[in-house]
This record gives sequence, C-alpha cells and structure tokens, in this order.
Amino acid sequence: MARYVYAFTEGGREMADLLGGKGANLAEMVRMGLPVPPGFTVTTEACRAYLESGEPPQELGQQVAQHLRALERAVGRELGQVDDPLLLSVRSGARFSMPGMMDTILDIGLNDYSVLGLAKGPGRERFAWDSYRRLVQMFGSTVMGVDAGLFEQALAAIKKQHRAADDTELDTCDLIRLVETCKDIIAEATGEEFPQEPAEQLERAVLAVFESWNTERARLYRRREHIPDDLGTAVTIQTMVFGNSGSDSGSGVAFTRDPATGSRGVYGDYLPNAQGEDVVAGIRNAVPLQELERLDPRSFAELRDHMHRLEAHYRDLCDIEFTVERGRLWMLQTRVGKRTAQAAFSIAGQLAAEGLISQDQALARVDGNALAQLMFPRFDTSADNEVIAHGIAASPGAAVGAVVFDSAEAVRRAAAGESVVLVRQETTPDDLPGMVAARAVLTSRGGKTSHAAVVARGMGKVCVCGADDITVDPHERRFTTQGMTVPEGTVISVDGSSGVVYRGAATLIDSDIMRYFDTGGQPPVAQGGQIVADVHQMMQQADAVRRLEVRANADTPEDAARARRFGAQGIGLCRTEHMFLGDRRALVEAMILAHTDAERATALQALLPLQRQDFAGILQAMDGLPVTIRLLDPPLHEFLPDRTELAVRLAQDSALGRTPDPRDAELLAAVNRTHEENPMLGLRGVRLGLVVPGLVAMQVRAIAEAVAQRREAGGDPQAEIMVPLVDAVEELHLVRQEVDRVLAEVAQETGVRIDCPVGTMIELPRAALTAGKIAKDAQFFSFGTNDLTQTTWGFSRDDVEAAFFSAYLDKGIFQVSPFETIDREGVGRLVNIAVEEGRAARPGLKIGVCGEHGGDPVSVHFFHDAGLDYVSCSPFRIPVARLEAGRAALQEHTGSDST
Ligand code: ADP
Ligand code: MG
Ligand code: MG
Repeated sequence: MARYVYAFTEGGREMADLLGGKGANLAEMVRMGLPVPPGFTVTTEACRAYLESGEPPQELGQQVAQHLRALERAVGRELGQVDDPLLLSVRSGARFSMPGMMDTILDIGLNDYSVLGLAKGPGRERFAWDSYRRLVQMFGSTVMGVDAGLFEQALAAIKKQHRAADDTELDTCDLIRLVETCKDIIAEATGEEFPQEPAEQLERAVLAVFESWNTERARLYRRREHIPDDLGTAVTIQTMVFGNSGSDSGSGVAFTRDPATGSRGVYGDYLPNAQGEDVVAGIRNAVPLQELERLDPRSFAELRDHMHRLEAHYRDLCDIEFTVERGRLWMLQTRVGKRTAQAAFSIAGQLAAEGLISQDQALARVDGNALAQLMFPRFDTSADNEVIAHGIAASPGAAVGAVVFDSAEAVRRAAAGESVVLVRQETTPDDLPGMVAARAVLTSRGGKTSHAAVVARGMGKVCVCGADDITVDPHERRFTTQGMTVPEGTVISVDGSSGVVYRGAATLIDSDIMRYFDTGGQPPVAQGGQIVADVHQMMQQADAVRRLEVRANADTPEDAARARRFGAQGIGLCRTEHMFLGDRRALVEAMILAHTDAERATALQALLPLQRQDFAGILQAMDGLPVTIRLLDPPLHEFLPDRTELAVRLAQDSALGRTPDPRDAELLAAVNRTHEENPMLGLRGVRLGLVVPGLVAMQVRAIAEAVAQRREAGGDPQAEIMVPLVDAVEELHLVRQEVDRVLAEVAQETGVRIDCPVGTMIELPRAALTAGKIAKDAQFFSFGTNDLTQTTWGFSRDDVEAAFFSAYLDKGIFQVSPFETIDREGVGRLVNIAVEEGRAARPGLKIGVCGEHGGDPVSVHFFHDAGLDYVSCSPFRIPVARLEAGRAALQEHTGSDST
C-alpha cells in the first residue's frame, strides 16, 4: 500500500523530496533530540496525486487518522476534547523553501466548545479567544476563500472603538465579539458556517495547503527562483505550542550567524507574548534576540546551545523559528539559511578553516552568481536616497552619472571626463559606443535578455532595464518618472543589483574582489581583508579541480590583457568585425563599392596592415596562449550607412536643387544591393568569404604575417583560425584551400614556420548534425551557442526578446531565456551529437564554446558534462566560469547536487 504519512520520528533531512524541507528538518531535529512539538507529515507525493486528479489519494484519510490517534495517545489529549484540547498547526513545506508563499493554518481543533476548555485555568481566557479568533480568520480566508481584508477591517474597527494601538490591548469580551463577527463574515460570504467539527477542519486545511501550491503568488515565486512547478508541497501537522500565553511566552527567529556578513554571533528577533506569524508579519515591533537573555535567561541559554548543535550538525548557517511557552522552549523550524554573496564566501571559508567541511565542500557552497555580485561596486544602502524608478536588475553593480539620451552625447561627455548614465527606451547595436562610454545603462523597455541587458552584462556594465515608470523623451532630452521631469545632465544613481534608481549621487563602495582579480589574483595583501582571502581560497580550489579550460572573448589587446589577469587561458573568440569600424569604415566601403577586382584588391590592401597590427597586438598580449581568430562574420550592410538616412539626404538634395554627392548615390545603390530581409540568415559568415574575392586571403595573410612578426620578435604566438557559420563541409573545404594556400605563401615569404590550426564554429543545426563530416576538415570546433540557439528555435534574439519573451516566461514555456542559459533539451542535444560524431571522426578533437553561455553558471555545468575542452566568455565573466567549472568537476565526482 502506498505510504503518504510519516511521523517526525520516522523521517530525516535526507527525505526532503518526500517530506518537504520543513518536514524533513523537523524530523531531523527530533532525531537530534531537540524539543520539537510532536507531529507527522503528509508527503509531496500525496499532493502531486491530488493536484493531478483533484482528489486526495484514497488511503490518505485513513493514514492521517491513524497518525492522529497515535499523536493523541502520545500527548494524552484529543482533538476537539472539551477539556484542554489538542490543537494542531497544518503547515505547508515544499522541497525548496518558499517563505510565506503557501499557507499555514494554526490552532486547528478549536470550536465553540473546545475554546472554553482551552480557556480553563488562571489567566487563559483571553489567550484562548485570541487563538480561536486567529483560527476563524485564517481558516476563513485560506480554506474558505473569504477576502482576508474583511477580517482585517473587523479587527481594525474594534481596535478603533477602544482606541487600541495593537491587538494585545483587546480584552476577552472584544475577542469573543470578534470571533462572532468573523463567523458572520464567513457565513455571509460563503453561505456556509465555519466548520465546528475538528476532523473536518483538519481535512479541509490539508487540502487547502495542497491547493495553495498553485496560487498566483506561489507560481510567480517559483518562476523567479527557477523552482519546478511539479514538485508539490508536503503538509506538516504538528501539535500547537503557544507563544501567546502571556509575558513568560513569545516567539522568535534566529540565525546561527549574521546572514549579511557571515560573522558569528546572536542574530534574530524576539516578540514576547506572540504567536509565530506575528514575528514574521511585523505586526508589532520585535526586540533583538539578545534581549531574550534578560527576559528569560534559561530559555536563551538553551536556545544558544541548540543553535550551536544545529550549526555543527548541518555544518552550515541555520535559520531557526522557535517559541517559548511559559518558560519552555520549543523548536518549530530550521533550515540552511539564505545569505548574501559575501556571507556565502565568508561562511564557507570559515567552516573550511574550522575543519567542519572540506575545501571541496566549501567550493560547492558558493557559486558564480554570488561571485559576480561581489565584483561590482555597490551603494551604501544605509544612507536614505530618493528612489525615482524601479526596473529589472539586469546587470549587477552600482553606478553614478549624469543622464544622457544618446550615444554621441555619452561619448562626448565621457571623453571630457564626466561619468554618464545612458538612458534609452531600448538600446540597439548603434548605441554600443555610448554604452561603452557610460557607467550604466537604463532603459524603460525590455527584459533581462534585452539588447541592453545582454551587452551590459558582457561588458560588466551596470544595467537596469524595463523601468516602466520612466518615459524617455530623447528629442526634448529628458525623461519623466512619477510626475517629475529629469533633464539631461541630472545626476542619478543606478543599482543594477536591485533594479532601483535614485536621484542624486548615492555613496559608492568599491569592490575589493574586482581589485583582487584586476591585479592578477595574487594572494591578498593587507587591503581587502577576509573576504578577499576567502574568495582567493575558493578560486584556487576551483582551479585545482576543474577540467574545463576557461578562455576569453576579446577583440583588443587591452581586453586580452585584462582577460589574462582574470585567469583566461587563451582567447576563444577574437571577432574581427570591430576592426572594420571607426575610421576604417571608409576602407570597407571602398571594398564593397569596388567595381573591379583591382579596385577591391586595392581596398583590401589598405586594410591589411591595420589588421596585421591588431592581430600582432592581441597575440603579444596573449603570448604563449591560444588565440582563436574568427574570420569576418556579419553581413556587409552593417558596415554601410543607414539606408533611410541616405535616401533622405539624397531626396533633400534633389528637392533643394543641390547636386547630390555622387558617393551618396553610389552608397545607396550598394545598400540597396546588399539589403536583406533576414540578415541573420543571409550573406554572412563563411558565405561572405566564398563570394567576396580576396577577403579571406587578406584576413589570413594579416594573421599569418602577425604570427611571423611576433615569432621574429621572440614571441610565442598561438593563432588559430576559425571559420564562422558553416553549414556544409564543402564550404569549409573550399575556404580551407584558400587559407592553407595563404599560410604556405606567407611561410615561404617570411621563412617562418606558421602552423595555425584551422577550425570551424558549429552554430547551425545542419553543422551539428553533420559534425562527423565537418570534423574531417576542421582541426577544432567551437560552438557558437548564440546563433545555434537562434537557428534551432527559429527566432532572432533581437526581435523576440522585446516582443514576446516576457509572455513566454510568464506562460512557463521556458523557465529562463534560452539565450541566458543553454536549452539542454534542444540546443544541448545538438551539442552532444556534434561532440560525439566530431570526436568519432577525429579522435581528440579540441572543442570549446564561445558566446554568452560560456559565462553562465548553469550552462558551464552542461558544457562540462558534454565533455568540452573549454568555455570562452567575456573577460569579466572569467572568474565566474573558473569557479563554476570547478564546481562542475566536483559534482561529477560526488554526484551531488550542490546548487
Ligand atoms: P512559513 O513557511 O510561512 O514560515 P510556517 O509553517 O513556518 O510557515 O508557520 C507560520 C508561523 O506559524 C511560523 O511563525 C511558525 O513558527 C508558526 N507555527 C507553525 N507551527 C506552529 C506550532 N505547532 N506551534 C506554534 N507556532 C507554530
Ligand atoms: Mg516558517
Ligand atoms: Mg555566430
């Protein structure tokens, strides 16, 4: 027979899947001999069965009744008995903590009779009626679906009559009246009486907890925290203890360490004469936990003792709920507590230093997201600053600057030494220079994966996006928010870790961790303190255990040098298109406009020395380490002026009777010629190399000559040539012939041996599916997961992110954008196929990944599992990738899920 109920004495923390975190940890505390009010837990399996069929499983009623009888025998009291009745709490608790998201109901078992029994004894009347009042209210709203506001109004009305500041000032008579009022409210709203039968109360409460799994707020919370929707909740049924029994009673929460910094000490809050939910709800002001020492030294000493034991037992920061009932301490909940990024590193470091956990376990306790947070400067939140907008926390960190509304102004002011914040409705690739120049980017539209967000994260730049309080007016050079107008030049502060925007300059605190990485990750000196030492220790551990190499995506010598300081083991993606912009654009235009091969050759000839210098600089910065250079990838029109702009200019000229600039006319013709409806799927990548004569040869010559130049200068250049957007091996084959020819030519001319491996990106489904063939002509693979994601899903990132991604996330079509975290099922499957077939055709084939996903913690684990050799990501994400690569290797060994 299926088993749906476990007594606390039958469980343990290893059973969290079945008993939920709360139920499993209560059982664990019982196992440790801590004082826990007895009870039992209904499994998540029962909840899943209920949610699927709409009916509780058949055996459930009987199993609950059995456990209830055993509980009644053990405590010597019965549910609903008239004298000193047994009362129960019915508590929700899923595998992952979802604080306050699902409903817990207290004081089950009270009715018009048993409340009198509970009231027997000196000074218990008020307490009994207060408890009944709470039950009717909670049951009415969560089980019977009555609007909770109606009860609140009734309570407020009675308090007002008595001019009572809080509910402790109400006396027994008030509470009796309030119970009656609440019962009337229920009858009126539902046409049904508050159920007097305790067994019915219990049964309905359990089902209500099941139901609460699917409330809107619970769903929202799960989506945000990436908790699966199909786990279900367990229900814990537990003997009530009463913190509201008088001044020698109370309820509190405690942490075994400071969850903000990780330091040891006594942290928490205590509320005398209160039931548990009062502390959390903040109804009255709680006192610091330390006060309990004065109020009730015995309970305090006992609590501290339990806290020490729990921390030693769980080997981690524990978060605790407790209640004191007339001088007797009860433990009501514990779990491994949530903490800030800093506390995560500091606690893991301390516990490892104390020998409570190993260095590997310490590494498993921290993660890349926490590390990324520590790398950004932050605002001093203790100061009170004026909040002017809220948006999505898209790229963490804190920045202060003057508001500007276009890229050119950002560049101009930044060049003059001013810090600026670029404010746009949304950004486009045209805003790139402005984004580079700005300290932060603020947009009024777009989500976590909008252009602004993705680019800002890649650059390690602060970004708040989708701040819809804001209306941007670039023409008037101002934005409005909450009825206030903010003109260009106004200083604002942007917090990319919380999504909050302040007026004026909030005080900034620099990141010691960023300084640590930027100075080469050397063992910490006096400055920076403990947190730097903890991070250093964790990085060393990660580097020692990881199998994945970490490279950088870098296009300039400066980026390459920084990447190296951050621990990059090479460059996995050096894009050449940036080298075609700026003043060189004219040369590119000339190449595109060329009428004859000779004209084109002249234009290419002019680009050659510039490219060579670029490559030489990067190879020097990465001396001794591999540098994967990608041949030109984007469609040509990206290098030409805007089509509409040109057309307008020409139309104006002709309207005003001016002679149009002949070059404009020629450019417009070229723009029209190269125009594509779907540039992403058009003439780009290897296709360009095959149809634009001389382009590949020029780029390869520049690379080869740079290699020769570096080698002659005594360097150790390790260039690798990468061909983008290959669909069919034939494309690669043709390009390789040209590459090999030029490499041989340059080797001959210079007399220097040039061995550049030639490989390809796998970024189209067809390439992944024919990887076995492609591997015959490719000396390495690098997955371009951005394009592979676009082409596998059949959507273009720039178009879909703003248009419908938020709807897709809301509807649960995906939990997280596939551009942020790799889609294992679809894109991941193609990766697996390509790895397997590629290596079957060419044993030992070197395989990496370049693109956003290489710096995403979850995706790094996937790439580790897929057997890749390296991930490549933006320089600022390198520490994150190193750390996660280490954690991925640990999980493989222990098989444990440390996230
Ligand atoms: P949440 O998951 O929202 O924290 P809980 O199940 O922990 O919900 O319960 C809500 C409040 O009720 C908590 O403060 C808890 O300590 C208190 N509580 C739960 N069960 C009991 C009990 N058996 N006796 C007294 N207080 C309880
Ligand atoms: Mg709780
Ligand atoms: Mg690509």
